[in-house]
Order: sequence, then structure tokens, then C-alpha cells
Amino acid sequence: MKIIYSSKHILHATENITLDGQPFVVEELPARAEIILAALQNATLGPILPPEDHGLEAMLAVHDADFITYLRNAYVENAAWLGYEEAVIPGTFAVGRRDMPPPVSIAGKRGYYAFGIGSPILAGTWEAAYWSAQCALTASDTVLASERSTYALCRPPGHHAARDLYGGFCYLNNAAIAARYLQQRTQSRVAILDVDFHHGNGTQAIFYEDPAVFYSSLHADPRYEYPFYWGFAEENGAGAGLGTNLNIPLPKGTKDSAYLTALDRALEALGAFAPTMLVLSLGLDIAEGDEVGGMEITPMGFRAIGKRIAALNLPTVIIQEGGYRLDMLGANAIAILETFA
Ligand SMILES: [Zn+2]
Repeated sequence: MKIIYSSKHILHATENITLDGQPFVVEELPARAEIILAALQNATLGPILPPEDHGLEAMLAVHDADFITYLRNAYVENAAWLGYEEAVIPGTFAVGRRDMPPPVSIAGKRGYYAFGIGSPILAGTWEAAYWSAQCALTASDTVLASERSTYALCRPPGHHAARDLYGGFCYLNNAAIAARYLQQRTQSRVAILDVDFHHGNGTQAIFYEDPAVFYSSLHADPRYEYPFYWGFAEENGAGAGLGTNLNIPLPKGTKDSAYLTALDRALEALGAFAPTMLVLSLGLDIAEGDEVGGMEITPMGFRAIGKRIAALNLPTVIIQEGGYRLDMLGANAIAILETFA
């Protein structure tokens, strides 16, 4: 199995953020990707390759141009406005007011494009997010060129990012960018399966009315867990995309066997859609002991999950999403990836 990785993710340096002189903690750390990389090197699953630069075109097929411009320029614009450099974190939000043009002021724009404070924009965030998306695109290229499955070690993650909205440690939606790219290149139906602990509200929003892309997610019940406002079972698509969105909310603490039962439901619906390709949003925060997540999936559970998804026998682009229990990240990643390799 080919693995696509870029060291540029380190530029999104979330370890020591301060806001107004106080520490601002982000659990989505560079160490996450480095730990998974080290485990992959040890396991010798396959060659680890750098991404190729596809430019902005495939990102603009998913995200609005003004949103991309904001992400690129926000840090510099914010520093010019403040008179000093600081992480870009919104202080206000455009609650209920998205039917207006973006504000001119950076202070207004920060909250216009964000739905939470969990995604600070740092000096290197754009470059890291750009190359994270390029990893997803390069992995897609290998699968289009007949590779059975390829893993993109994306960081920052992406599934909370919508067309013009970011949050939840995400900026560009790597899985959505890959899915749209595969769908356009093959002119066929593509499915996205999201096994992150959290609902992929961004991915859902991007394809909600799209009959060519099926989105299914298993995640913690949004009545209790982030992202709270999306991810309900009743959300099943709209317009031409009605019936192409399947949410399976699960209780926090769901263990291997119950998770696998729910997964079978998602896989059955996904199979009925008859996609030609699959994008897997791989969140490892369903692992037991993950403090940001909270399912109780064991390494054996990850192996079983991988086996069932691999049994679909679809060309698969695997995209790294969340996962925060550092001491188990490597083992859990290998447990699931081995079943594809
Ligand atoms: Zn997550």
C-alpha cells in the first residue's frame, strides 16, 4: 500500500499557542502525524511518498474562492490589523446571518468563516492545510491509476470543513476534495464512509444535495457530542441528493461488537448505492481511552472494521481525520491499514 505524507504539516505548529498572553490548548498536535508515520515506517506497509502539487483547482471544486482567499491571507491580515502576530481565533460569529456578504474587517471575517474557536489559524496553517489536501489528491491519483488502496496521512484533518466554513481542527476538507476529484475524473458514483468519532458535518454539507456522492457516517450522538448541530439520523440528503446521506449516531462508549453491527448497516446502504470508488475518512478517535473521542474500539476492533470495509473490494482512498490518544495512534492505524495492504 502506498502512503502519502508531507512534513509540511509541522508548519501548523499547534503545540505552543498563546492568546492574549495565555496558553491556548489545541489537542490536534503535530506529534499525531509523526507517531503514525513512525509506526508506518516500522510496519513497512509500503513506500512513503511525498504529495504532488495539483494547485488550487481541485480545492475550488469543493470550497468557495473567497473562503480559500481568507484561509490564505487571514494570518497576515490579522497581524496587520493587530499590529503584532497572533493566532487567528474568532471573537464573534455570524450566527443566523450567513445571507450577507463577508465583512471587510478581519475581526469580522474571522467569525464569518468559522463555526468554533477550535481551529486557530497560525503562520503556517495555510501551507500545512494546502499540502494536507495535496496528499489526499495524490492518493486519489494512485487509486485512479489502478492502485487498490492508498493512505493519505493528512494533517490537519478536514471533515468538519464545509464549502465556506471551518472548525473542529479542520480547514480544507481533504476527503471531500478527494471524493469530488475521483467523481469528476471517473464520471461515476463515489461513496464516502466516515468512521471518525465526530460527525463530518463539512463533508455532509458539501454533498447534501449531490446524487453522485453518497456520504455515510458513524459517530457519537450529536445531542451530547461535538459538533452538536449536525449528524442526526433524520438528515438524509435533500433535492436530487435525497437518500444519499446516512447518519448513524451511536452512544458514547460504544464497544467493538455494537460498532460493527452499525458499520454493517452503513456498508449495506453504501453497497446499494453501487459506487465505483470509496473515500474512507479514518478517525482514530473512536479508540478506547481517546480523551477527545470516547468510543471503546480496541486494536482488534480496528482490524475488524478494516476487514469489513476492505471486503467491499472497492478502490479506496483512506484519509486521516482525528485521533488523539497518542500512545495508541500508531498501533490502531496499523491495525486497520494492514487489512487493506
Ligand atoms: Zn473526531
